Amino acid sequence: MVSDDCLFCRIVRGEIPADVVAEGESWLAFRDIQPQAPVHVLVIPRRHVESVDSLAPEDADLSGDLLLAAAEVARVEGIAESGYRAVTNVGERAGQSVFHLHVHVLGGRRMRWPPG
Ligand code: 5GP
Ligand code: ZN
Repeated sequence: MVSDDCLFCRIVRGEIPADVVAEGESWLAFRDIQPQAPVHVLVIPRRHVESVDSLAPEDADLSGDLLLAAAEVARVEGIAESGYRAVTNVGERAGQSVFHLHVHVLGGRRMRWPPG
């Protein structure tokens, strides 16, 4: 299922351009428009899922695909060795602003922990 007015569904459909760095059958990875680190890539499912909180047991394969995709992106972007963060925000209070599940892959600099 896709959502007509969802920004990331529109990117999946090619209606909005994106700098795609890798893709798989069930997912797409593209550069964040407002990068917070030298490498900042978003990994999203092609199918519309609102957030991790909306995942169902039958989405187990898709969930695994997204984490494996994050690791692939890190390798392709050359940050697998130096370290990176794979993070997904759930809900507005946690910083989610686009309500189509996405994993941020951030690296290329030292990452502070804990986040604010
Ligand atoms: P969130 O705040 O929901 O965790 O992350 C949404 C991310 O999407 C933000 O980091 C934001 O910069 C990025 N973003 C918002 N609009 C666009 C867009 O049109 N294209 C791309 N590539 N990234 C976007
Ligand atoms: Zn969507």
